[in-house]
Amino acid sequence: MHCQPGYKHKVYIWSKTVQTCLVCDEATESAECICNVCETELPWLMEHCDVCALPLPMEGLICGQCQKHPPAFNQVIAPWTYSFPIDSLISRFKHQARWPLGQMLAQLLAQHLQHRFDTTGLTPPDCLLPVPLARKRLRERGYNQALMLAHWLSSNLSIPHDEHLLLRPHETVAQQALDAKTRKRNLLGAFALAPDAQVQGRHFALVDDVLTTGATAHSLARLLMNAGARQVDVYCLARTPKPGS
Ligand SMILES: [Zn+2]
Ligand SMILES: [Zn+2]
Repeated sequence: MHCQPGYKHKVYIWSKTVQTCLVCDEATESAECICNVCETELPWLMEHCDVCALPLPMEGLICGQCQKHPPAFNQVIAPWTYSFPIDSLISRFKHQARWPLGQMLAQLLAQHLQHRFDTTGLTPPDCLLPVPLARKRLRERGYNQALMLAHWLSSNLSIPHDEHLLLRPHETVAQQALDAKTRKRNLLGAFALAPDAQVQGRHFALVDDVLTTGATAHSLARLLMNAGARQVDVYCLARTPKPGS
């Protein structure tokens, strides 16, 4: 009996082409893991500080903080502001080990970066460096979300990444719970370069999930620039708005 010819084949094709949106659970029309509606409605970062990507009311400005204390990094590239639903997507990726979510966000960040390389003259770095996680955190969580993002970005953009160049020898208190001043003090001496690190003349991009005050990125960029790096950029998924705005 051949009453259902090609049945298996059809199911196979269907499962290969129909994807479910990871945000709203509806079927997507393409092979993407996010539907067009959800992608459009993500909190895309609009006008922002040219240096630290802080949301600002106008394009082409540098925020007061960056003018007063220019950070050691060149610029921050972030596609989104840290608000709904990006905040909850990142949190589910980070705290509930939802890899497909992280992978989807990394893929969208890679597309955003590729677009910037192609159209705005952003120079691709020589190497991507994930922000190292404190050892205690790594033990608790079991993985470093920044390393996973760097790994996915690396394969999407064909840019190498190095997870051993930056070290975090001292334990630091979770940064989220601290005010800006304490964060800065806390970070002094928190990072180090690997003894065999090749830094001289190289262009790096630090990779992290969220940029909050930029204190961690500044500390790492200063370490790299002091060791002779040519340029340090920061790539992250989301930038927090100024508290209260
Ligand atoms: Zn959707
Ligand atoms: Zn700024």
